[in-house]
Amino acid sequence: MRTERERPYVYVTWLTKLLVGENSCEWAAWFKAHYKDYDQFPTGFDRAGWRLAHTTLSSRLQDELEKRGQTVFTEDQNKFTLRGKVAVFAGKPDLIALYGTGGAIFDAKTGKPQPSHIIQVITYMYAVPRALPQYKDCAFDGKVVYADHVVDIPSSAVDNVFIDNLGRLIRRVGASSPARRVPSHLECGFCPITNADCTARAQAGLIAVAETDDF
Ligand code: SF4
Repeated sequence: MRTERERPYVYVTWLTKLLVGENSCEWAAWFKAHYKDYDQFPTGFDRAGWRLAHTTLSSRLQDELEKRGQTVFTEDQNKFTLRGKVAVFAGKPDLIALYGTGGAIFDAKTGKPQPSHIIQVITYMYAVPRALPQYKDCAFDGKVVYADHVVDIPSSAVDNVFIDNLGRLIRRVGASSPARRVPSHLECGFCPITNADCTARAQAGLIAVAETDDF
């Protein structure tokens, strides 16, 4: 049975695909921002397998950074909560490493590279110095770490355009009026919200196939 949250709560990973257009249904994030403890649709995602692969990659990364003399903070040490006027914004970067005069935020990814992975790290680079007092004056670089390569993100990626886009999306999913609902076969197939809460899921069950003589 779903419970309405006292205050809209927005988690970083609910927004990253929306920010780069990999997903379009803002209503899913709006619903999660306003409700908790709702029944979830089984998506077939292998959470245990993902967790194992992710932990292995993160641990390897942590070892490498510490061997280089860097100070490393992981997962729960990096949890942040940023309170805005319309919503609480929260997240948890995999790794924060401090070295010399600077630092970097790392996120380990086990799947195929996607633009939303980069946006996720830029979002951490924006939020961590604002939410965690110990990093108040840090301009972090970012790194998305895959099994076979690393994508570097300069601190300049947190610019006014990014902050404006992120802020507008948080305001839309944190608003009291529902955000845009965009059912599609692919997106609904990976969405945990059940038909009981989202009646639009059923409409997306079929992909229309038509025939033509044009080619
Ligand atoms: S089931 Fe589909 S339409 Fe409903 S919230 Fe999820 S993605 Fe959006």
